[in-house]
Amino acid sequence: MSKITAPRGTQDFIPPQTSRWQELEARIHDLTHDFGYGEVRTPIFEATELFVRGVGETTDIVEKEMYTFKDKSERLMTLRPEWTAPVVRAALQHGLLGQGPQRLYYVGPIFRYERPQAGRYRQSHQFGIECFGFKGPEADFEVIQLAWQLIAGYQLRGATLFVNSIGDEACRPKYREALTAHFGPHVESLSEDSQRRLQRNPLRILDSKAPEDRPFIESAPPFESVLCDACREHFEMVQHYLYEAEIPYQVNPRVVRGLDYYTRTVFEIESDALGAHSTVCGGGRYDGLVRALGGPDTPAVGFALGLERFLTMVEAAAASAEAQRRGIQFIALGGEARERLVHLLGYVRKHGGVPAYMDYEERKLLAHLKIADRNNARYALIAGTQELEEGSLVLRDLLSRTDRRIPFQFEKDTAAVLVEMGA
Ligand code: ATP
Ligand code: MG
Repeated sequence: MSKITAPRGTQDFIPPQTSRWQELEARIHDLTHDFGYGEVRTPIFEATELFVRGVGETTDIVEKEMYTFKDKSERLMTLRPEWTAPVVRAALQHGLLGQGPQRLYYVGPIFRYERPQAGRYRQSHQFGIECFGFKGPEADFEVIQLAWQLIAGYQLRGATLFVNSIGDEACRPKYREALTAHFGPHVESLSEDSQRRLQRNPLRILDSKAPEDRPFIESAPPFESVLCDACREHFEMVQHYLYEAEIPYQVNPRVVRGLDYYTRTVFEIESDALGAHSTVCGGGRYDGLVRALGGPDTPAVGFALGLERFLTMVEAAAASAEAQRRGIQFIALGGEARERLVHLLGYVRKHGGVPAYMDYEERKLLAHLKIADRNNARYALIAGTQELEEGSLVLRDLLSRTDRRIPFQFEKDTAAVLVEMGA
């Protein structure tokens, strides 16, 4: 019988990788909480219409990446390819946007039918925030700061923040014209996607990854040249706040974001740990979206961050630093020692708050120590026949590889041992 494997472009996560996911998720919940954001969870599938209207018909997502199917009553459904449209749908459905500003965040899977490769999956996971109800640059700054703080919290180096402004309904049409004039004469040389987008949405060409488009993108006029006064002032304030908060950034006229509903501020965070798919986080302001989805005029700004790519950055940083050792490996040599140590293990697990590991098979000391290394334990607590007779234990520091014999009355001194090991 042929083996069944996970579908192409999807991954299983197994220990110890899952603990890195849990840690990241825990940090996300803490950080968002500290900024005053509350969590939203939406269904994994929605009416296809939501994404067609909310993401935009000329985007990669709607043009070619959606997992769309008909359910048994012939309704067209799509697996969530991004979270912003569902979050807006939920906020409208529950009347949140009529109650003043809302700060919301999400963490969970998205589905996109893409060509799988490193850093690009068919099921991936995003963390993102959406800040509704503020039209001023303060909210743009808040959103960027939150994303940056997640990176700073892991002390990740090699990450770069790029910011840009893509204007509003006053100046965007002028920019479209400038781009059409720029790309128009070279239409034959552009990629198929870009040729198609030239008429409908020339801004999207700036976002193209096709190599044949590169030279024309590089010589395209920057938005700066046509930005209206209000947009320019907004953009300058965002930069001023970033500067004051000592968040390093670069203005990059090529950052436009793939989704149609963005206005004014757009930003991306790239990392040199990621190779070709260097963008880990993308976001910006999308003042037009809520209305496009049938809601009241509501300014909004947010971002989405890819958890797979973020963890690649974390792993690259961890590879250069010694992994943090934590916890105690209990090692019993012989049946009697095992019985005593299992008691102690139970006690530590009940009272400890410190990771406690034990292998119950009869093995040589060396084999047990290898297991301790695999668990990344800080200490080994070793008991054999001699220790039982003497009423002692050997405490091995697995970092310095030194032993200490500690007097130990089994069962009586457990609390003292716990303190000793920093529990
Ligand atoms: P790209 O240009 O790489 O296709 P995108 O513009 O489609 O990215 P967004 O829709 O802005 O990406 O999603 C935000 C983040 O989510 C990306 O920066 C990336 O980290 C992550 N992401 C998006 N699609 C995938 C995917 N297929 N696999 C893994 N991560 C992804
Ligand atoms: Mg994409």
